[in-house]
Amino acid sequence: MTSYRYKRIAVKVGSNVLAGPEGDLDLKSLSSIVRQVSSLQQAGVEVILVSSGAVASGRNVVKPTRKLDAVDQRQLFSAVGQAILINEYYSLFRKNGLTCGQVLTTKENFQSRRHYLNQKNCMTLMLENGIIPIVNENDTISVTELMFTDNDELSGLIASMMDAEALIILSNVDGIYNGHPDDPETSVIRTIHPGEDLKQYIAPEKSTFGRGGMLTKTTIARKVAEEGIEVYIANGKKPAILTGLLDCSKDIVCTHFVAGNKASSAIKKWIAHSEGFAKGEIHINEGCLSALLDKDASSLLPVGVTSIEGIFEKGDIVKIFDPSGHQIGVGKAQYGSASAIDLIGKKGQKPLVHYDYLYLD
Ligand code: GLU
Repeated sequence: MTSYRYKRIAVKVGSNVLAGPEGDLDLKSLSSIVRQVSSLQQAGVEVILVSSGAVASGRNVVKPTRKLDAVDQRQLFSAVGQAILINEYYSLFRKNGLTCGQVLTTKENFQSRRHYLNQKNCMTLMLENGIIPIVNENDTISVTELMFTDNDELSGLIASMMDAEALIILSNVDGIYNGHPDDPETSVIRTIHPGEDLKQYIAPEKSTFGRGGMLTKTTIARKVAEEGIEVYIANGKKPAILTGLLDCSKDIVCTHFVAGNKASSAIKKWIAHSEGFAKGEIHINEGCLSALLDKDASSLLPVGVTSIEGIFEKGDIVKIFDPSGHQIGVGKAQYGSASAIDLIGKKGQKPLVHYDYLYLD
């Protein structure tokens, strides 16, 4: 019996894995992913799939009656394409004796803690019942500034929300390269440790690093790994890649971002990922900074605040800056900005950001 590394994983399948040469759905690729997820699931590994491919699937079958802009195309193609995609997944999983279900989400669903918990609860129920969650962004309503950067960002949020031990990002390359992929000297960086400096690989002359979203993938992968989740970037077009990656006896070529040991509470994880929704800024003095960094379980008190920027309400997410203007973390404000301004520098007040709702980078 194969021994697998993890008990719960999130797997992101990119459009470039699922698309065939004509941009249509590559059923061979899709079947291979489904077969592998099924054998993992049947061996007791819980898998949450984050799958792209809605827009690509719809583009191939819908012929718009007039010229559409990019936003309209995304809405129209994804409405049809998501139905095609989930149908294919559903029938392929059934052939493997399993049931899958669909979870469509938007960036806003991660902003509201209630929606966040509702999503988590739904997917937890699915896993408990042996149903494979297939997550995608709801591209029909999530347009322009409301969108995730891409499904890499979404998969990081899902992995963190669902307490996955590992996130596997499947793309059509073997991993992150240490130079130009066409250069014979170039090879896949096999392991990246927390805090490791990657600047040498991102030099402008090696600009292919940025192609295919490798730069965003790296940024997301590092952030997720720092939270204590192992992250792998691997080639989803290769047969048995997923099962191979999880098989303790195999060494598969891919880039592994080793997890840091920053274990966070569920609420802190949510706050860490809510940074993009921050409504304001809190600037603090040296005394406050050292209290936050040196003492365990230290809250941010109004006495240590030097200025407040932006307009926020109690419960909103705010960014926190040190005296030199560097952002050191995020937190949930216990006062609105108007009250916070009145209390700047005052002693004996209740925390502006309580320790339980404070996430330092
Ligand atoms: N949600 C998009 C789709 O299903 C894909 C976004 C991405 O691949 O990053 O077509």
